[in-house]
Amino acid sequence: MINSLRGFRDILPPESDLFARIEAAAREVFGLYGYQELRIPTLEKKELFVKSTGDTTDIVEKEMYAFTDGGGREIANRPEGTPGVVRAYIENNLGQTGRNGKYFYIGNMFRAERPQAGRYREFEQIGAEHIGNPSPFADAETITMLVRLLEKVGAGGCTVVLNSLGCGECRKAYREVLLAFLRARAEKLCEPCRGRIERNPLRALDCKIDGPALAETAPKLTLCPACAEHFAKTQELLKISSVSCEVNPSLVRGLDYYTRTVFEVRSSALGSQDAVCGGGRYDDLVKSMGGPAAPAIGWALGVDRMAMLLKDKPAADNGPKAFVIAASKEAGNKSFELITALRAAGLSADFSNFELSLKSQMRSADKSGAAFALLIGEDELKAGAVALKPLKEKGDQFTVPAAEAPAKLKELLKL
Ligand code: ATP
Ligand code: MG
Repeated sequence: MINSLRGFRDILPPESDLFARIEAAAREVFGLYGYQELRIPTLEKKELFVKSTGDTTDIVEKEMYAFTDGGGREIANRPEGTPGVVRAYIENNLGQTGRNGKYFYIGNMFRAERPQAGRYREFEQIGAEHIGNPSPFADAETITMLVRLLEKVGAGGCTVVLNSLGCGECRKAYREVLLAFLRARAEKLCEPCRGRIERNPLRALDCKIDGPALAETAPKLTLCPACAEHFAKTQELLKISSVSCEVNPSLVRGLDYYTRTVFEVRSSALGSQDAVCGGGRYDDLVKSMGGPAAPAIGWALGVDRMAMLLKDKPAADNGPKAFVIAASKEAGNKSFELITALRAAGLSADFSNFELSLKSQMRSADKSGAAFALLIGEDELKAGAVALKPLKEKGDQFTVPAAEAPAKLKELLKL
């Protein structure tokens, strides 16, 4: 018996159905907002993540599934989607299409973290990236889209937390102030933070160990006038689209490329892994990766955590409409013909094994969640008929001509 890897899991029905529901809702919402799908590879050059996500981030420093392939190439399983989208944008000259650079992706990500509830080594993200628009209208639009998606899937009780990290200019001055503050407390910091404050002092504020305490006492960033205006306008627009947010100056996010607006969606229903979605503006990333000057904003939603939030919401009944039963050995072919006709008419239909006993097939029908059992036995075979038996509601079995069975079933089910 070979088991799955630690931190990797099977998503079984009915949970798999929740995933599909979330994905379907996302596709619908993306359509409303003019987003197109980008399907990017799972494997990329490791360097892509080191340069974009950042070499002082947890993701790159500790969590990457990186390896050297047979040809000696340094490769990584993607830990997040943005670097791949940005690479694809540059590599395929997507900035020159003349269209809005609005892309979404749906795919699995890999991070070698300590597995626990809501934290897996392979997990799914739905992500949106709007590349080429520096305006606060884009910030407000993308956050509004995210909130509408949460509403659509029925994830209540979520809070949107918002902050601005300013631009390179605002951060230059802040870096020095923060670094002085951190140096003075260096011996109290965790080992990894002590090692990286010189290279990236902001990272300490996002540290799972030191972050919460530091955030309260650390000096706060002062935005330059342009960044302050951008942030104020973003909030003003979010009011117009009826999105309520909580501004939290301690929100710094764990990735290197963020500028200006950053946000997170949290749900207290999730316990300690409470972040459902994270995102922000990355105005310099595309250029720094060798592309055109294309300011951008995006977010990534954790589908596994979202599914946890929806666990108690029963999925729409996904049993078949009809369960076909061959009540005698000779009825197999006719039953097979019937199930073919039902499906051709757009009715979901299933059967177990026409070679088994009536009793056994009936038991399967009951377990399937089907609305009706459709039986063909000796009598029906002779008469060219089908017997319909309601399984979910009370009612007697009755017979219809075989050719009329699909239409009759539709009528009964009000389809
Ligand atoms: P966290 O603080 O929980 O580690 P993060 O800041 O690392 O989250 P992001 O990189 O912003 O997360 O990813 C966006 C979303 O992806 C998260 O809000 C979360 O819902 C989900 N996510 C991240 N890591 C995991 C994981 N290991 N397992 C399941 N979902 C995850
Ligand atoms: Mg993380």
